[in-house]
Amino acid sequence: MESMKGSIYRFGRGVVDGDGTMKDLLGGKGAGLAEMTLLSVPVPPGFTITIDVCRYFFEHESLPPTLDAEIDEALRWLESVAGKRFGDETDPLLVSVRSGAPISMPGMMDTILNVGLNDTNVHGLAARSGSEYFAFDSYRRLTQMFGSVVLDVPKTVFDKTLETIRKSERDLAGELSASSLCLAVEAFKFAIHEHTGDPFPQNPKQQLMMAVRAVFQSWSSERARYYRRLNKIPDSMGTAVTVQAMVFGNRGLDSGTGVGFTRNPSTGEKVIFAEFLPDAQGEDIVAGTRTPMSIVELANAMPVVYEELRCLTSKLEQHYRDVQDFEFTIENGELFLLQTRSAKRAALAAVQIAVDMVEEGLISKSEAIRRVNPVSIIEILSPQLDLSIGEPLLLAEGLSASPGAAVGKIALSADEAVLMAAKGEVVILVTEETTADDIHGMAASAGFLTARGGATSHAAVVARGMGKCCITGAKSIHMSARGDSIQIGDRTLTSGDWLSLDGGTGRVFAGRVQMRPASVSPPALDTLLLWAREQSICAVRANADSPDDASRSKAAGAVGIGLCRTEHMFFATDRLRHVRSMILATNEKDRIEALQVLLPMQQRDFEELFRTMSPLPVTIRLLDPPLHEFLPSIEEIGASIADARREEDWHQCLSLEDVRRRVQLLTEANPMMGHRGCRLSLTYPEILHMQVRAILQAAVTVAAEGLVTVPEIMVPLVASEEEMRELARMIHATAADVFAGQPEKVSYRVGTMIELPRAAVCAGAIAKHVSFISFGTNDLTQMTFGFSRDDARNYLDSYLQQGILKADPFITIDREGVGQLMAMAVESVRDVDPTIKIGVCGEHGGDPESIQFFHSLGVDYVSCSPARIPVAQLACALAGNSPEKKLELLSSAA
Ligand code: PEP
Ligand code: MG
Repeated sequence: MESMKGSIYRFGRGVVDGDGTMKDLLGGKGAGLAEMTLLSVPVPPGFTITIDVCRYFFEHESLPPTLDAEIDEALRWLESVAGKRFGDETDPLLVSVRSGAPISMPGMMDTILNVGLNDTNVHGLAARSGSEYFAFDSYRRLTQMFGSVVLDVPKTVFDKTLETIRKSERDLAGELSASSLCLAVEAFKFAIHEHTGDPFPQNPKQQLMMAVRAVFQSWSSERARYYRRLNKIPDSMGTAVTVQAMVFGNRGLDSGTGVGFTRNPSTGEKVIFAEFLPDAQGEDIVAGTRTPMSIVELANAMPVVYEELRCLTSKLEQHYRDVQDFEFTIENGELFLLQTRSAKRAALAAVQIAVDMVEEGLISKSEAIRRVNPVSIIEILSPQLDLSIGEPLLLAEGLSASPGAAVGKIALSADEAVLMAAKGEVVILVTEETTADDIHGMAASAGFLTARGGATSHAAVVARGMGKCCITGAKSIHMSARGDSIQIGDRTLTSGDWLSLDGGTGRVFAGRVQMRPASVSPPALDTLLLWAREQSICAVRANADSPDDASRSKAAGAVGIGLCRTEHMFFATDRLRHVRSMILATNEKDRIEALQVLLPMQQRDFEELFRTMSPLPVTIRLLDPPLHEFLPSIEEIGASIADARREEDWHQCLSLEDVRRRVQLLTEANPMMGHRGCRLSLTYPEILHMQVRAILQAAVTVAAEGLVTVPEIMVPLVASEEEMRELARMIHATAADVFAGQPEKVSYRVGTMIELPRAAVCAGAIAKHVSFISFGTNDLTQMTFGFSRDDARNYLDSYLQQGILKADPFITIDREGVGQLMAMAVESVRDVDPTIKIGVCGEHGGDPESIQFFHSLGVDYVSCSPARIPVAQLACALAGNSPEKKLELLSSAA
C-alpha cells in the first residue's frame, strides 16, 4: 500500500508515515510511536488520525466525510500486518483508541481499549486464546469503558454492579470467575441500554467510529479545559487519536504491563525506575486496585525480557537525549513499548539529570540550563511541608509572597513574637499587615502570614530579604477587634495555636504539618549555577542590608550588592530611639545632634558590608520611606498618654503630647506619594550629609585596611533632572568635605533609581548627572498603574480572575506599560552615555519571566533578595539562551 499521509499516519511492523518531529500534527503519542518504529523498537502497529481532523471536528461538529474511507483503508493495512481481521468471529483484531496532544496532558483525556469485541466474537476470542476468563474480562473492560467514556453512563453504575457481583462471589479480594465476568458484561449492556435507550453497539466499525469521536470530544471535557487553563495550553491546539492493535498483558503469568522511567524521577539517579504488574492491563496500574511489583521482580521472573526492556529504553533515552517515561506490555513473553515521552521530574532530579547528561556527552551546557525551570530551584533550597503525611486541614489561601515553609505557634503582634521566641517557641507572626515597626517581631519569627498586602508589600519584601516564608493577602483571615484572636471561616485561633504555612503555594494549614528540611545546595546545582554564571551577559547582584545577607549572597555568586535599603538599618532596635529624636527635632541643630549619634552606627554597618563584599560594588540607597514610618502610631501614643496620666507622670504626659503633635504633623494621606525618597534629602539635607559621610568614611576605613571597595550612592524616587542635579551636587560636596582631611580618597559612584513614570520619561536628562541607574520596578509599577503596593490585593485578585490582568504586575513585569517606560528610559539613557550601568532592583529582579524581558532591554544586572539569587542566575543564563526553548520552559513552569 502507498504511504497514506492524508488524515492518517501509520506506524509499526517496519511501516511508518510520520516521525518524531511531527508532534504538532500527530500529538506526542503518535509522533513517539512513529519515531519508535523508525528506531526498530517493537510497538503494536496502528495509525494516528491527525490533529487537523480534531480541529475540523470542532469546527463542523462532525468528522470529515473522507475519514470513514481512510479509516477503512488503514484498517485493511492493520489487518494485513496483524494477521487478523477486525470483527472476525473466530480470531478478532482488537484495537485501542487513545488521545495524544502535542503537549502531554496526563490522564486528562480518554482511552478506550478492546474495541472490536461483540457478543459473537467474544466466544471466538475465548476459543482462540483458550481462556474464557481472558475473553470475558476483555469484553467487560470494553463495555465498561465504552459505556462511561463514549455513552456517558455514570462510572458509578459500573463500579456498583461489579461490587455486587464481587460480593456474591464472597471473595472481595480475589479475581472474578469467567462466569461472573460474563454476568458483568450482561449487566453493563443492560445498564447502557437503560441509560441511553440504545443497545451496546455490536458492529465493530460503529464502535470504532464512536470511540474516535468520543476521544476527540474529550479534548473539550471540563477537566481537560481546566488542565489547559492551569498550564497555559491553548484550547486551539487539539488532540490526535491513535488507533492501535491491542496487545494483552492479561494473558497469564508470562504477560504483564508496566510503566517506568529511564532514571529516578525524584533524585535523578541513573537507574531504571519502573513498576510491573503481571497478568494485567495498563489501566490496572492506574486504577491502583493491585499493587505493582518493583522492576527487580521482572528481572528475576523474565530476565531476557527485562534485559530487552533495559536496552530498548536506554536506546530511547540516548536517541531523545532526555529521560524517558515509558509504558510497556508483555504478551506471552513478547515485549512491546506502547509509549515513550520526556519524563516529568522533580526539581532535584532535573538538576542532577541535566548535569549528568552534560558529563555523559549527551547534551551541551546551554541545553542543561534550558532543562531546569529556574523557579523550581527554590523547591530544592527551601524547607517544604510534607503534605503526604496525615490529612492536613487547609484553612486559608493567600499569595505566595516568599517560598519555603514554616510550622510554628501563632503570635498576633511583633512584641508577642519576640516574647514567644525568647521562650524558645517557633513563631508564626499573623497580622493584618506588617509595617516597618514590626521588624523586631519579624526577625524573631519563622514565617509571616498577613490578611492584606501583595507581592511587594512590606511583609513580602522583608520576608524575601530574610529568606523566610511568607503568605500575604489571605483575605479570609479576620483579626478580632481587640487583636487577640483571628477568625478563619468558623474557626477562631489565638496566640499559641499551631499553624503551618506553605509559602510556595500560599496555602495555610491548621496545626503542625510535618516539614522536610531544606537540602544543602547539592553539588549538581552548584555546577549548573556555575555554568549559568559563565554563560550570562546579565549579572546578578543582591538586595542585602546586613553583613549576613551580604556574605550569603557573595557565597551564592552575587557580583555585588545592587540595593542596600538603609532604612532597614535605622529600624534596628538600638537605633530607633535616636532615629526618633532626629525626626522629632524641631530645629536643624537638634536634628544634626541626633544624626551625629547615628553616624558612627551607620558607618560601622557600611564598613562591615564593604569588608564582606570586597572587591565587589555595594550600592547603598539613601533613606527612602516617609519619616513618620519610624514613629509610633497615634493610637499607640494615645495609649501611652493614658498610662502616663494614670500614673500621674505629668512630665511624661507633656512630652508625649509633643510627640503626638509631631506625628500628626508628619502623617500623610498618601505616604507612598508623600514626603519620602529624595524629597527627604532635599528638605532635610542633614540626613543626606550624614549618610554620605558614613558611606565614604566607611569606604576610606576599609580601603586603609588594604581592601578594595566600590561604594555606589543611590538616590531614591527622583522625578526630575533638577532634583538629581542638586542631589549630585550635595553628594559631591559632602564627599569633598570627607576627603578634605584624608590622605587617600576612594572613588565612588553616584546613581539614581528610576521609580516614577516621570523619571522614566526624563531618564536621559537625569542620566547626565549620574553614572548608573537602577529601576525600582516596585514603585514604578505602583506609580504607573496607580495601584497601591500595600492594598491592591482585593481588586488585583478580581482582575486576575476576570482575565483583565494576565499576571500580577507586582510579580511579573507588565511589558506593555511599565516595560515600555523602561525601554524608553534605557534608550534615552544609553543615548546620553552608552557606558552607563543599568540595573533593576525591584522584586521583579528575581522573577524569571521579568528577567527575560530585562535581558531583552540590555540591562547590565538584576538585583534580588539573597534567596532568589540562584533562580535569577539561571534565568539570566536562560534569557541569553535559544529563544524558542526558553519560552517553552517558561510556559511549562507556569
Ligand atoms: C522599588 O521600588 O522597586 C524598590 C526597589 O524600592 P522599595 O521596594 O524599597 O520601595
Ligand atoms: Mg522604591
